[in-house]
Amino acid sequence: MLDRLRDGFQNAVNRLVGSPSIDEKEIKEFVKDIQRTLLAGDVDVHVVLDICQKIEKRSLDEKPPPGLPRKDHIVKILYEEFVRILGEGGKLDLPTNRANIILVVGIQGSGKTTTIGKLGRLLSKRGYRVGVIAGDTFRPGAITQLKTICADINVPVFSIENEKNSVKVAKAGSQYFREQNANVIIVDTAGRHKEEKGLLDEMKQISDAVIPDFTFLVLDGTIGKAAFGQASAFHKAVTVGGIIMTKLDGAAKGGGALAATAATGAKIFFIGTGERVDDLESFNPTRFVGRLLGMGDLQTLLERARELETAADEKHIKRMMSGKLTMNDFLLQIEQVKKFGSLRKILEAMPGFSQAQVSSENIEEVEGKMKYWRAMIQAMTPPERDDPELLNSQRIKRIAKGTGVPERDVKDLLTRYKQAKSVMKASKGRQFRAMMKQMNRQE
Ligand code: GDP
Ligand code: MG
Repeated sequence: MLDRLRDGFQNAVNRLVGSPSIDEKEIKEFVKDIQRTLLAGDVDVHVVLDICQKIEKRSLDEKPPPGLPRKDHIVKILYEEFVRILGEGGKLDLPTNRANIILVVGIQGSGKTTTIGKLGRLLSKRGYRVGVIAGDTFRPGAITQLKTICADINVPVFSIENEKNSVKVAKAGSQYFREQNANVIIVDTAGRHKEEKGLLDEMKQISDAVIPDFTFLVLDGTIGKAAFGQASAFHKAVTVGGIIMTKLDGAAKGGGALAATAATGAKIFFIGTGERVDDLESFNPTRFVGRLLGMGDLQTLLERARELETAADEKHIKRMMSGKLTMNDFLLQIEQVKKFGSLRKILEAMPGFSQAQVSSENIEEVEGKMKYWRAMIQAMTPPERDDPELLNSQRIKRIAKGTGVPERDVKDLLTRYKQAKSVMKASKGRQFRAMMKQMNRQE
């Protein structure tokens, strides 16, 4: 099946890369392409607006590190914002001292039963005592299929022949495995019913009966945009705790993942990459977005960007070590650090601020002000930026007027700058280097 999301992204990226120059108009068009693609992929409109706004703002505001073409930098931003939406991969954390019940839901053919075999294998390898309940009472042959898979991995199956009531089976099965001292009980379910509402009702009833500790939604990675509808329908019936996307081994690129995480707010825990029992990978957003954008050389691009950024940092640090800190350096420093987290962390780590003992009210105030710092620095002439000593009261007045802030804000900025400069000089840049290191670690 054609994955509209992937094609849309690739077209947008190709158009961007193919255009002779990049200006505001190109960037806006690129963002519109992305927006259209996401909307056509049924991704929630708020998520789309959020992601597109961030891509546009960052693409317009951020200067690529020297040596990295602007186009590459924009592709990198696109990539980073996708990773942000997908979130970190989920980690399954199951206490060993009790029976953890895992309910697995999803439509017929999505890969539930196969995935349960994979999960059973993974968890028994981790030392859990696993039991599986055959809760698909709808499809003929479902029990046999489950038993065959589980026999291979040495995991016991609970089933009741000829019992059509799946709620009853689920209840009896969880009782049985508790008595057997299992600490992971996985419930397989049906994916088809006479009608969709019936299926969702049944899932809700099973969920109410066994009270799962965790519910996985299994989604076929080839379905693309339909993932959003499926994910939200299941999420309404049972609270989806995590997503497993299957069939990402073939031609599928799993664009539906963006839609599914957006629809449920749930993290993706695993992806299925084949029919065999070992074909289960922990979800890695970086690798996944690379696949989604379909660019084999994305990884290379990102590595190169990182190298160039580090090189720029080094140059910057060397200059600061010699005690020279221009306003441009100062701005770069703020923006560099801003990428890494909360303002509190930044202020605590940043020379010139650490002494200030920032309280929360203070933080809000500074956060408000920081928005204007960029504008103020940009309102300075290049010689002023190189040497802020040039800023006499008249020039300060001009900058305040030009950016619409009171003069004392410009003076405040200069004070901060001077503090940073003197700390930088005293520590010969060590402090900044240490700070960057610390921030990188926190990332
Ligand atoms: P269920 O109806 O949701 O229980 O789905 P099944 O587990 O029976 O799987 C349906 C089909 O998808 C089977 O033919 C599986 O072998 C296949 N399948 C499941 N997961 C994967 C996967 O990750 N990759 C591939 N290629 N096939 C898969
Ligand atoms: Mg099945």
